[in-house]
Amino acid sequence: MTRPTRAFIDISALRHNFQQVRKAAPGRKILAVVKADAYGHGAARVAPALDDRADAFAVARIEEAEALRSLGITKPVLLLGGVCGHEELVAAAKYDLDLVVHHESQIVTLERASLHKPVRVWLKVDTGMHRLGFAPGQVAGMWERLENCKTVATTIRLMTHLARADERDDPGTKDQIACFSSIDKASEVQTSLANSAGVLAWPESHGDWVRPGIMLYGISPFSDGSGESEGLRPVMTFTSRLIAVNRLRKGDSIGYGGTWTCPEDMPVGVVAVGYADGYPRHAPSGTPVLVNDARTQLIGRVSMDLLSVDLRSQPTARPGDPVILWGRGLPAEEVAARVGSIAYELVSRIAPRVAMAVIDEDAGQEPVLSPSTGESR
Ligand SMILES: *Cc1c(COP(=O)(O)O)cnc(C)c1O
Repeated sequence: MTRPTRAFIDISALRHNFQQVRKAAPGRKILAVVKADAYGHGAARVAPALDDRADAFAVARIEEAEALRSLGITKPVLLLGGVCGHEELVAAAKYDLDLVVHHESQIVTLERASLHKPVRVWLKVDTGMHRLGFAPGQVAGMWERLENCKTVATTIRLMTHLARADERDDPGTKDQIACFSSIDKASEVQTSLANSAGVLAWPESHGDWVRPGIMLYGISPFSDGSGESEGLRPVMTFTSRLIAVNRLRKGDSIGYGGTWTCPEDMPVGVVAVGYADGYPRHAPSGTPVLVNDARTQLIGRVSMDLLSVDLRSQPTARPGDPVILWGRGLPAEEVAARVGSIAYELVSRIAPRVAMAVIDEDAGQEPVLSPSTGESR
């Protein structure tokens, strides 16, 4: 038997979520963020499915940008961290990438290079996140240096990143937007400020280009929210199967360390998924899991290839029955909250050994979520 653990990627949900970005930020250009292999969903599936509608794509690493080009993506691709050194600059120029410039060393690299064709750059301003970017007072000087670089295309753009847009009432976001607006160039050139939370909660941050990531995948960027309440549909459904059902006795303890003890005689299911598949090892007993589409709970420690579930509510469950770890019917946000993480981390950590299967209802395909269907990756 092949391993029954599979992640279904719902392309119709992805397109629906893209449409929700359009609705929230009408008339703005959309840079679809597909870094980290499209947040674990597979950039090779996600980018081609959005290529006819996204205005551009954004990735973190040059290898990811190369991969998009080798898939035949011809839309602009923005390298969010920019380049590190001359070699990367030459490669970026070869692949016709847009570059974020956030540090003076990158300007030095541009000043010293000679390229066949100038590259487009986005100057990044640090308006309060204090991670990447120039202080507002440095912008004019850096701008001038970039304008004088033969390797830089003339339409320099201006961007910043919001640190707390996911906290709907936090005054920090207003301060960041005000700081950005106070930069002279901000009213003259194309701008970009908004991540998913900016798209959904801060219309004044929309600028010319919005940069949604997580919401494309159907996940809410807000710590207290759900994708569904934002009109989003989950793209990834992480599934497996029961491979054993055991009748245990009151007092029996489950798994490594015996951290959970049966309070009564009860059926316990063993699911063919573990931390080597990307299910979080620190998920505590009580974390929700769906068996046959009904809610039950994880019990005991997650091991490398297996985890156990409470089947008291499902006395007829049998080996082979389908299990959903997150996705349809069980938001990744809810699992993440139980684990003390965020859904961004859960989905982007899906392990390479997990087979992926595409669902596309727009293409007339049935929305089956059986772990035995679909192609593997
Ligand atoms: C990852 C990233 C985004 C997308 O953020 P989400 O919260 O996933 O929407 C936007 N801009 C930058 C600079 C990023 O690194």
